[in-house]
This record gives sequence, C-alpha cells and structure tokens, in this order.
Amino acid sequence: MRILLSGAAGFIGSHLSDRLIADGHHVVGLDNLLSGNLRNIAHLESEPRFAFRHQDVSQPFQAEGTFDAVLHLASPASPKDYLDYPVETLLVGSVGTRNMLECPVAGNSLFLLTSTSECYGDPTEHPQRETYWGNVNPVGPRSCYDESKRFAEAITMAYHRRFGLRTRIARIFNTYGPRMKLNDGRVVPAFLDQALHGVPITVFGDGSQTRSFCYVSDLVDGLIRLLHSQESYPVNIGNPQEMTMREFAEYIQELTGTPSPIEFHPLPEDDPKRRQPDITRAKTLLGWEPKVALREGLTQTIAYFQSTAD
Ligand code: UDP
Repeated sequence: MRILLSGAAGFIGSHLSDRLIADGHHVVGLDNLLSGNLRNIAHLESEPRFAFRHQDVSQPFQAEGTFDAVLHLASPASPKDYLDYPVETLLVGSVGTRNMLECPVAGNSLFLLTSTSECYGDPTEHPQRETYWGNVNPVGPRSCYDESKRFAEAITMAYHRRFGLRTRIARIFNTYGPRMKLNDGRVVPAFLDQALHGVPITVFGDGSQTRSFCYVSDLVDGLIRLLHSQESYPVNIGNPQEMTMREFAEYIQELTGTPSPIEFHPLPEDDPKRRQPDITRAKTLLGWEPKVALREGLTQTIAYFQSTAD
C-alpha cells in the first residue's frame, strides 16, 4: 500500500512508520515537528520506501499522488504539550482531521484516526467501554485535547456515513516506550528520569489515581490489526493492567533500585481519577491483546533513555 501518515516524527507515528515499512508498504510521513522530532525517523533517511514532508496538516496542503490508506496521528499528546499549545491542538484535531480526510485516495482506500481515552474524560464508568459517552469538562484545561479528539471522531464518522469512506478509529490509552520525550511531562518518562537521576519522584495528588500502561509495540500491532479490520466504530487499544500512580512510583523505585524518595505535588485540574480500557472489542474484532509485560517494556524504555542521555 501507499500510505500517508501524519505525525510521522512523533513517538507512536515513528514506530508505526517502521512497522508499515517492515510490512512492505510505502509511507509518506508528514510532521510539523511541534512535538515530534526528526531524531525519531533519522534511521529512515536512506529508506527508499519512506519520504518525509515537513507539513502542518492544519494548513492547506497538496499531497502528491493517491494513497491506499491515510493515517492521521498528528497531535500534541502529552498534557504538558497540549497545555502549552491549546490552539494548535484544537486545530490539528479539527481542521487537520478534515484536511487529512480530504486527501486524494485510491479506490476503496482506508482512513485511520488515532483518538484517545481522553474522550472519556474523568470517567464515571469503569473500566471504560467504547459505548461510554464520557465525562469531559468542555471548558477545562484539558478540553483543548479532549474536545479536539471528540470532534475528530465525529467528523470521521460523518465522512463514513455521508461519503462511505472506510474509516477506523482507535482510542489509544496510555502508551510508553522508546522515543518518548524525556521532558514531555508524562508520568513514565518523568518517573524514569527522576529515578535515573536520583532526584525525588513527583507523585501528583495522593497518588490514588490510576492508569494502565501499554507498550508501544503492542499498540502498533493493535493499530495495524484495526486498519485491516472491517470495524468503523471506535476500538479501545490499551493494556488493562491498572495501577495507582503511587504503586507505579514504588514499582519504578524497585525496578531501578534508585535512592529517589517519593514526593507529593498538587494534582493537576481535571486529572482523571481512574482509567482502564475494556478491550473486549479489540479481542473479539481484532484478535488483539497486549503481550509485553510492564517490567519488560520499562526495561526497554530505560535502555533507550540511557542510550540517548547527553
Ligand atoms: N503524574 C504524576 N507525576 C508526574 C506526572 C504525572 O503523578 O510527574 C500523574 C498524573 O497526574 C496522572 C498520571 O500520572 O494522574 C498520568 O499522567 P500523564 O501526564 O502521563 O498522562 P494522562 O494519563 O494524564 O494523560
């Protein structure tokens, strides 16, 4: 397939590009490098089946040729990034999704949107199934990301219903692995960085809030399976192994053997209290479930951070 992929220099976009190329496809990767980094795709520079275009997909653009699949991953995704760039985040989910939906496609082509568990907001249903409509504060600090992705899902469904486009929507839960930015504020790089430097591990709130972490290779496998499925409604892709942030901090202490103590800091506004995917649909429709254990995934991630340390 000839594939157009936005967000190619990002954490997940670069891993997905690698997998698509390994599977024999051609990838044209777009990125405006707002939160992505060319370092993530430097190894693809001499790859004949990969081409990079510096492009903000929120701006009008002409994609060269036609595509068998259009994959829209571009967006700031860490709370720190989307709080720093709220307008850009809203635009890439709205105008950017519209622009990607309008890209020239070959007959019977596919469109995949990477959406998010943030569509569920601070959920009142637990674990979260795709049928849950969510509990999002439309004017809170996280709304730029949550509402942007909810709009992206809505316009994707509109193109599916109105124009018969074959669309796929992945709701991605917390994902980690090599190529995350050490300073993007997310809890996995933050705790690992602190542990590796022997400085206090910063748990927000009382640490009772939960998350469920999925290793990036599992996530990419789920996205590929979804792309090749027949499913137009959203599918959760995430690892259901849930833990509190306090347990996670203690786990990092144990895994790294760090002397870092745990330090408590204020909880950010609207921070979801519990998050765990119900992956029944992914299991049933895609035959997918995560395989990489937390210890194994974190070991790979630590090795990456150590290899890139200045
Ligand atoms: N968190 C924390 N310490 C940090 C960074 C994050 O305790 O240094 C918490 C944060 O409050 C949230 C969870 O870890 O409850 C996951 O945060 P992250 O920013 O990784 O992603 P989110 O799931 O909130 O989008």
